Amino acid sequence: MGATNEGALRQRMAEVMKAMDDKGLNRGTSGNVSARCGEAMLVSPSGVPASHLAAEHMVLIQPDGSMAPGSLKPSSEWRMHQGILDRRPDVGAVVHCHSRYATTLAVANKPIPAMHYMVAVGGGASVPVAPYATFGSMELAATVVDALDGRYAALMANHGQIVAAPNLDYGLAIAEEIEEQAAIYWGTLAIGGPTLLADEEMNTILQRFKSYGQRR
Ligand SMILES: [Zn+2]
Repeated sequence: MGATNEGALRQRMAEVMKAMDDKGLNRGTSGNVSARCGEAMLVSPSGVPASHLAAEHMVLIQPDGSMAPGSLKPSSEWRMHQGILDRRPDVGAVVHCHSRYATTLAVANKPIPAMHYMVAVGGGASVPVAPYATFGSMELAATVVDALDGRYAALMANHGQIVAAPNLDYGLAIAEEIEEQAAIYWGTLAIGGPTLLADEEMNTILQRFKSYGQRR
């Protein structure tokens, strides 16, 4: 990948991190993003608030885990990002955040069921919950990769949400929609729970979403 593309990716990663803050998906330094960069991966740094992030802060990590001397410390979740990008050739970017409603459901270990057609933006008829493992661990990387099998989005038990997408913009849009669906589901749980769409209808919607392609 040429220098120009890498520069543009770095810039867009900083913008997406700021957008997550602006949209209320993230607070403080908890969220992180990554993007495929040729054979390597760019990942946001650890401990830098989104408002202070710049393109040069993104950390380039090689397939063997090595980083350029002088790089900032990468997000503690970099192995999870690398695991997803390794497993999923269809994925170009990963977006992770602790947005309030998605995290509420993740803490309660409640997958989002087929209660609205927009649940299908996650790539399945529901949004599953990946089993809990310590943040930053290889175990977490493995459970999240498994939960995302064939999907774009999953909740992470007692932690947050994770989105794997063709590109950064699509990833941000999916994360925002998953948070909205989580908020709606949370609300319905207070009034008796949702009525669900039939499997056949969700299959139709998933096919329609596929034919829209990467419309964002
Ligand atoms: Zn996290």
